[in-house]
Amino acid sequence: MIIEPRTRGFICLTAHPTGCEQNVINQIAYVKSKGAINGAKKVLVIGSSTGFGLASRISSAFGSDAATIGVFFDKPSAPGKTGSAGYYNTAAFEKHAHAAGLYAKSINGDAFSNEIKRQTMDMIKEDLGQVDLVIYSLASPVRTHPDTGERFKSVLKPIGGVFSNKTVDFHTGKVTEISINPAEGDDIANTVAVMGGEDWKMWMDALKAKNLLSEGATTVAYSYIGPSLTEAVYRKGTIGAAKDDLEATAFTISDDLKSIGGKAYVSVNKALVTQASSAIPVIPLYISLLYKIMKEKGIHEGCIEQIQRLYSERLFGGDLDLDAKGRIRIDDWEMRDDVQAEVSKLWETASSENLPEIGDLKGYSDDFYNLFGFKVEGVDYDKDVNEMVEIPSEH
Ligand code: NAD
Repeated sequence: MIIEPRTRGFICLTAHPTGCEQNVINQIAYVKSKGAINGAKKVLVIGSSTGFGLASRISSAFGSDAATIGVFFDKPSAPGKTGSAGYYNTAAFEKHAHAAGLYAKSINGDAFSNEIKRQTMDMIKEDLGQVDLVIYSLASPVRTHPDTGERFKSVLKPIGGVFSNKTVDFHTGKVTEISINPAEGDDIANTVAVMGGEDWKMWMDALKAKNLLSEGATTVAYSYIGPSLTEAVYRKGTIGAAKDDLEATAFTISDDLKSIGGKAYVSVNKALVTQASSAIPVIPLYISLLYKIMKEKGIHEGCIEQIQRLYSERLFGGDLDLDAKGRIRIDDWEMRDDVQAEVSKLWETASSENLPEIGDLKGYSDDFYNLFGFKVEGVDYDKDVNEMVEIPSEH
């Protein structure tokens, strides 16, 4: 069939298998071009199908020849209906990993559940024995608690007062004022339950209890801080409360892993267009200004450049360069004073009229379509494509 993008606000209901494969091929080529990374050899990636998790899986496999198990939650293809991008990405990743002689298996299901944890642990035990790196890169709006069955929904709200600021609809380029009401009731606790550290700790506890972590095993979860411009809705909002919890959990997990010489870290990554970040108000306007400045300065990075640098320079490069709160800062270029000063200045004047010029709206929009395998260079979208794709390890 001919597959075209069908967007509804910040989501796209279709995905293109050839475009998704080309994205994976491009990421693999980037990692290979940067040379070998002396990193972990047996890696579990939780949230492995898109964004930072996919980039982590690719960096491990093609930078360190690692065996990888990926856990994700995506929609498979059905006759006449495309799968989700993460599904096609995973099929492409496995195909290319297997062709390179690398072990790669994947589990599609709810990582928050006991059942998926059990399946994953069985697979590790049977195939790898133990893992030496666990990447935790989940981004989800909901979580069903595995013990109580309670369903939590995360919200993106400020805490303590209404937040009003500019935002942009990146499809139309229209800049408008939005006001977001503050969190109420259980909003904060619910968001912490979904995006905080509890599930990360549950994974690590279960893996350790079953002796599936090798001596000196490391685990890394991803966080975000960002500038004062977005602080009220991000870092000091409900999602920020969840990130505070996630970051605090790194210390608890590190204590738990002491007996095997292991460590837990949080890496603070750069703001990027992913399915998760397009859903956050105000962030798309910030990102389109940030992209413009970082591209002009020659320091723009996507997920794969971020994670390749995280691995090669920090995690396995001998210098973690932790901040005062014990976090790895691979958002260092985003947070540079000169970059932030210029973004803040542009923010003041940003309007529907001048945004195409002062911001990188096209870069934002192209990255958004790329997430779903559209507008990828070198892909012929007029060509008939088979929407039915299988993930090799699932068959
Ligand atoms: P993403 O939406 O691209 O990826 C999320 C992944 O989680 C996907 O593989 C998805 O399948 C998986 N997933 C979601 N719910 C699941 C479930 N219930 N069970 C199993 N898998 C599930 O998101 P991303 O932007 O790469 O975010 C990953 C992490 O990086 C998050 O913690 C996010 O806060 C953080 N981060 C993102 C940014 C950014 O700008 N995008 C910046 C810094 C940090």
